[in-house]
Amino acid sequence: MEFSSKLLENAVYEISQLPGIGKRTALRLVLHLLRQPKEQTERLSFALQNLRSEIKFCRNCHNISDTELCEICANPKREESTICVVEDIRDVMAIENTNQFKGMYHVLGGKISPIDGIGPHNLNIDSLVEKVRSGKVKEIIFALSSTMEGDTTNFYIFKQLEPYEVITSTIARGISVGDELEFADEVTLGRSILNRIPFENSLKNS
Ligand SMILES: [Zn+2]
Repeated sequence: MEFSSKLLENAVYEISQLPGIGKRTALRLVLHLLRQPKEQTERLSFALQNLRSEIKFCRNCHNISDTELCEICANPKREESTICVVEDIRDVMAIENTNQFKGMYHVLGGKISPIDGIGPHNLNIDSLVEKVRSGKVKEIIFALSSTMEGDTTNFYIFKQLEPYEVITSTIARGISVGDELEFADEVTLGRSILNRIPFENSLKNS
């Protein structure tokens, strides 16, 4: 792609680095911005810069937060003894939308995936084991997507937690294997959290 302007080329290049966005789409977006009032581009770049410099990860659950301790962890009405293990913030949002879960979350930040070079040490697993070791946790609920990576991650954590006295359960989903949690509808997801099953049983069935 030949550009008549280096400034244009730079902007197109940066936007085309985003997932799912090729050079053509990037060019369309940049030309769109140029047609809009200058303030819109300024607001966009300010929001992105602010996001990167100000965003925090909750020191307790690792969820994305504006504060050191996220709103969920800071809420005294949430039950500390029940922890729902999820991959990322999208899962937290999906489960929160069901209004069926009053416990806490633990955000792993991904799933074990050797093909992508993601091992257990790349995820927030040690801090979860530490929470359980402290003795305050009664139940761990696995709510990762039912893909091979999700199953591997569940099983790895399950093994790490075996020495401790903690109930491990998994959400019983009425949706087919391979479906991502964030796409499950609220009613189905809400019900599957309430009707969770012991993790050992999920192993026998598969
Ligand atoms: Zn938190």
